[in-house]
Amino acid sequence: MVNELTVKIKKKSAQSYIKGYPLITKEALVTIPDMEEGTILRLVDESNRFLAKGYYGNQNKGIGWILTCDEKQPLDEAFFTRLFKEAFAKRQVFFNDDATTTFRIFNGEGDGLGGLTIDYYDGFIVLQWYSQGIYKWKSVLLAALKKAINTLGIYEKRRFDAKGQYLESNDFLEGNIAPEPLIVKENGINYAVYLNDGAMTGIFLDQRDVRKTICDTYAAGRTVLNTFSYTGAFSVAAAFGGATHTTNVDVANRSIPKTREQFTVNELDPAAHTIMAEDVFQYFKYANRKALAFDMVILDPPSFARTKKTTFSVAKDYGKLLEESIAITNPNGIIIASTNYAGYGMDKFKQVVQEAFKNQGREYKIVEQFTLPADFVTQSSFKEGDYLKVLFLEVK
Ligand code: SAH
Repeated sequence: MVNELTVKIKKKSAQSYIKGYPLITKEALVTIPDMEEGTILRLVDESNRFLAKGYYGNQNKGIGWILTCDEKQPLDEAFFTRLFKEAFAKRQVFFNDDATTTFRIFNGEGDGLGGLTIDYYDGFIVLQWYSQGIYKWKSVLLAALKKAINTLGIYEKRRFDAKGQYLESNDFLEGNIAPEPLIVKENGINYAVYLNDGAMTGIFLDQRDVRKTICDTYAAGRTVLNTFSYTGAFSVAAAFGGATHTTNVDVANRSIPKTREQFTVNELDPAAHTIMAEDVFQYFKYANRKALAFDMVILDPPSFARTKKTTFSVAKDYGKLLEESIAITNPNGIIIASTNYAGYGMDKFKQVVQEAFKNQGREYKIVEQFTLPADFVTQSSFKEGDYLKVLFLEVK
């Protein structure tokens, strides 16, 4: 079993835990004892009054998560079974929807247990562990999980190497092995996913509402440039919505066959689209040289990426990315600007947008705005948990 340790919380932080703040931070502790990953932390204030119980697990975000404010609550299998059941009940509309067979069924601290997320892929599930500490709880969590849901098979992604990144491994845990690819559905559109092929599965589930809005409202009759396109999921949604052509640009070679496959599993002809492995910034140069312009430009970069030719970070370069995009967007075109960079709130992101348009001397209107979708449950006491920011910008 895991150890338990009492830790003292500074006066100015105690109040936030009373109000339900779920993240345990180094800064909140009076002294930082030597702790083993997974240790149960009993948080008390400077007068030794009980505040909450949580666990120690080092993540880039903090050093652990609160589990309960009830001192008598045992942190046992029954406790976690209840958490899972509550979370799955909240997703009932998704389970009942035949047109959508993939969605998030447990969203970390938003569902009461930070450091673990669970995604549902048509009967199969993928657990993502974000610290060694939470991983120490694996056996009790798996037992609880199996009491709360029947699955075809279980996979896991361990996202806690020294840099907090994915640890390369065989991700299959138990049950049946999923087909490769496994075809899942989202609002009637097929997506090919691979549950045991590295850090990513082929689709980012948090963009579901964005894909739907592209398809239903903005794609018809438009030409689309999808940058950082990965498997081309946005393009497939656009093609379904009547986009006349999509151009997909991603620096990774493997994105070419993966994008072709996403079109093919929907009986769309990949040859009717442009799919290329290229650095986005090189592509902008090419587009300028050829005087190319698009009716829709999609920007959904990783927060940080280094390629042979460029280093991109949202913090430093999003403005530049926008300016390059504005320059090749047709009048009345749409730019879809997305980021999950934790350092930007929506307000800061909007400022970056405003600045970029000002520099380019173009006018714009925000026509749609998205944060995380309903299955990515967040807590009002933890605003930073809602990391997604997406703006649809109509360019004048
Ligand atoms: N928008 C995608 C997800 C993007 S994931 C979707 O909705 O599915 C980030 C992608 O950016 C990765 O596939 C990575 O290969 C690519 N990438 C990173 N840096 C890049 C660069 N400088 N130019 C082009 N692609 C880049």
